[in-house]
Amino acid sequence: DREAAIALLQERIRDVPGHPNPDVVFKDITPLLADPVAFGQLVDLLADVCVRLGATKIVGVEARGFILGAPVAVRTGVGFVPARKAGKLPGPTLSRPYDLAYGSGVMELKDDALAAHDRVLVIDDVLASGGTAEAVICLIRSTGATVAGLAVLLELGFLDGRARLEQALAGAAVHTL
Ligand code: AMP
Repeated sequence: DREAAIALLQERIRDVPGHPNPDVVFKDITPLLADPVAFGQLVDLLADVCVRLGATKIVGVEARGFILGAPVAVRTGVGFVPARKAGKLPGPTLSRPYDLAYGSGVMELKDDALAAHDRVLVIDDVLASGGTAEAVICLIRSTGATVAGLAVLLELGFLDGRARLEQALAGAAVHTL
């Protein structure tokens, strides 16, 4: 059942204090990815969200959102679109800068990856400050597509990324496993 699946996922996420800097407790999902039962259950749970929302595309956020989003796209029969850090996608692209805890970054989408009729589910592993997801959601909306929701494995609630995303999500929900 769902509760047992969630418990297994929780068991397979490792806390790594001090990575990549002393202020961060890094949530390492590599033990989960290495366990085919746990990874399969994660894909099932994310696929449920995708089907429930009637998504027509999944946007995976570089890099762990690729690992989680791609199998969900295949499972549910929708297309996969990567949201990448600046300079990785061949042009033409849409780009959007965002703030990080230290410094800033730029997220990009191919300018023809989404159409106005698309309903998009955004997938990433961790929602922290929400800056990355906010940039990706704004990019998606600039194409005219609808953001159906954001699905993440886990959320660092004390950083209140949800509040930061509220405006960009325009009524769409955050689905945290
Ligand atoms: P943010 O933009 O602050 O919400 O950060 C989200 C992005 O950074 C996601 O793509 C996560 O994969 C990664 N991230 C941020 N904090 C952590 C953390 N404590 N452990 C693992 N990944 C993190």
